[in-house]
Amino acid sequence: YFRSLEEVGIRLNGPQISAVRHGKGPLLTLAGAGCGKTTVLAARAGYLMEVSGAHAGSILLVTFTNKAATEMKDRIASLPGIRPAAARAVQARTFHSFALTLLRHYGVQEEIFGESRAQHTVLKMLLRQNGMSEAFQPESLLAMLSAWKMQGSETSDLPEKSQEERDAKRVLLGYEAWKRDRNKMDFDDILLRAAALLRDPAVLGPLQQRFQYIMVDEFQDTNSLQYEIVQKLAAAHRNLMVVGDDDQTIYTFNGARQESILEFDKVYPGARIVTLDINYRSDARILGLGSELVARNKRRRDKRLRAAGHRGDAPRFATPSNAEEEAAWVVNQLCQQVEEGLHTYRDIAILHRTASSSRAIFEQLVLKDVPFVQHGASPVFYDQSLIRPLMDHMRLSLNPRAVDALPSALGPLYVSRDAGLEWIQCCEEQQAKKYPLIHLAKWDKLKPFQQEQVKERIKLIKSLTKLKPVIAIQEMRRQFYDKYMESGDPSIFTHYKETMLETLDEFEAAAKKFETVEEFIQFADELSRRHREMESLRRSQDSDAVQLMTIHRAKGLEFPCVYWIGASEGIVPHSTALRQDIPEDQKAALTVQQTDAELDMALEEERRLAYVAITRAKQYLYVTSPASHHGKPADVSRFLLEAFGMEVPDKRKKREDGPTGNHASYGSGSSNWKGNGNTNGKANGNESRNGNAAYARSGSRPQGRDAVSPVQRGADQRSAIRQS
Ligand code: ATP
Ligand code: MG
Repeated sequence: YFRSLEEVGIRLNGPQISAVRHGKGPLLTLAGAGCGKTTVLAARAGYLMEVSGAHAGSILLVTFTNKAATEMKDRIASLPGIRPAAARAVQARTFHSFALTLLRHYGVQEEIFGESRAQHTVLKMLLRQNGMSEAFQPESLLAMLSAWKMQGSETSDLPEKSQEERDAKRVLLGYEAWKRDRNKMDFDDILLRAAALLRDPAVLGPLQQRFQYIMVDEFQDTNSLQYEIVQKLAAAHRNLMVVGDDDQTIYTFNGARQESILEFDKVYPGARIVTLDINYRSDARILGLGSELVARNKRRRDKRLRAAGHRGDAPRFATPSNAEEEAAWVVNQLCQQVEEGLHTYRDIAILHRTASSSRAIFEQLVLKDVPFVQHGASPVFYDQSLIRPLMDHMRLSLNPRAVDALPSALGPLYVSRDAGLEWIQCCEEQQAKKYPLIHLAKWDKLKPFQQEQVKERIKLIKSLTKLKPVIAIQEMRRQFYDKYMESGDPSIFTHYKETMLETLDEFEAAAKKFETVEEFIQFADELSRRHREMESLRRSQDSDAVQLMTIHRAKGLEFPCVYWIGASEGIVPHSTALRQDIPEDQKAALTVQQTDAELDMALEEERRLAYVAITRAKQYLYVTSPASHHGKPADVSRFLLEAFGMEVPDKRKKREDGPTGNHASYGSGSSNWKGNGNTNGKANGNESRNGNAAYARSGSRPQGRDAVSPVQRGADQRSAIRQS
């Protein structure tokens, strides 16, 4: 079998072979990034069918995303001796698709309610009905609900200690009722209900009989509910093979527990453990950065990886002054590379921390007409639910009769939007006003205080045209959102409030480039238009296009060339993981208080995220670290310093010494890429050739426009894991 594998170009090493040949009983294959875990899974499926005589339908292979499941099927189909029908019969599934098939088999009819835009629409409606349009962001509420349910908890058990928690719960219970009334279920419901179904021995028994071999990829990120499903299915025969890397646990916010992989042999005593230590993916210098970095984590199984000798280029590093400049550089650089024939577009991935952290790069890609696919595409930054109303108010300030923008101004009034719009239209027919909203102020359905609110809104809208867009945004933020953002009692929602704050900060940063509201709105409309034109391209996975995605989404994937953007303190590691750097006397002002242990855990997860980003690259890795973030100076990410084997300065101490960022003291800002190690000069610019020193020696930072860059947590990451 292994000889025939070699004939099709797959030459497995000793430990890989022993994992593939593993007979029965629990097996953990533990290995760092790029060591062939996923490769082994596919090969084992082939081996079981070809050599062990296992029936294809008795093999269940669980992967993390639909894309991974499809790839797994393709890989199996290309193995020697496997008939196409057999490859199809292997159950290569995501947890969700497995669970859904199970539910359907047992007659569960509910329609799937999984399109995030549709979910947001329902949430928006419920928020409006409860007069909370500006208090919560649908994305954040849904992310919070998901994390809650993935612990196996019910929506009815959500806490209600503070007013905010009670409000959030009311809306979310409304969401559950809405689904129930319409016979719908969302992705989380699918998992919860499947887990519940499996508690019935009459359901479980036949499945245990059927699935003789169960294999799980990316095991380090299974959450409690998913693990429960796997354990139940494997309980009778214990033929459970899991592969994973504890250094790549990056979904704890969604209930993943690193312990699952670290303690696998405790749950399955006598489990075999096979470790793989040859990395076939990355250039040794790229792998070196990743290994050096992740070794700093305390909670991990130690691994020493060797590179198989794949040749690429030295990783390169640049420190643009802000996210706008960063985006411009990256796009220029990659276009040049494609022009020179170094890469094709599809070889290139741009990885960023969160949805809103792609705002600037997205704009550059669209405006420069670069073909790109955005994975897990979220709406254009200016169309998301938190931002859209503010844009609409600015639109109304330019054109009070802008029909599409009007509904946003009705958001906070407890009225049905349609009824409100109908009233306005009706009045307009009798007597058109310059500001159609004025009719609302006389609507008898509104209470006097609401009529007052409408008048205030009109006043606000009138005032916006005279303001610079960034000031206009600050004014609206103050009026619409600030009262909800005050720290108040810590609640289950507090973490998600930070997402909202960061999105708003990003919005302000984006607006700073523009002098007038009109220019800004024109820009955003032009962006949307050009984005729509390219939409069909973005939907097609096969086109020759740059791959734009969050680091979370890139897990398990590999690319010849990776740009990791936003490698600055506050972005990665995310500011929420950096609270130990804040002086004691300022800690009281924080929205979330965390213990030192929690902060340590959060920082380790951020480090793993950086490790995942670095280890996606095969030959070329470019890392950019903007020297400012949302207008404030931002140091080079400590993870880069660590990866380069450098000491991380103590922020608290530095604060006393004066505000020198480590961009000034360590990095050198110029539009050239700094290389590490011997470079072969393929990238643009006069890169330095003396390794770490090049990175460490100081140069002058370019003076750019004010900073921009983002960070967001939750919804976008969450959606990455449930592409079923
Ligand atoms: P990750 O942790 O990122 O999921 P992984 O451990 O699953 O990584 P794979 O994706 O299976 O790693 O493999 C990484 C790369 O190495 C792939 O391009 C794969 O084809 C190649 N590879 C794996 N094993 C071998 C081998 N024995 N010889 C040559 N190439 C290999
Ligand atoms: Mg893998």
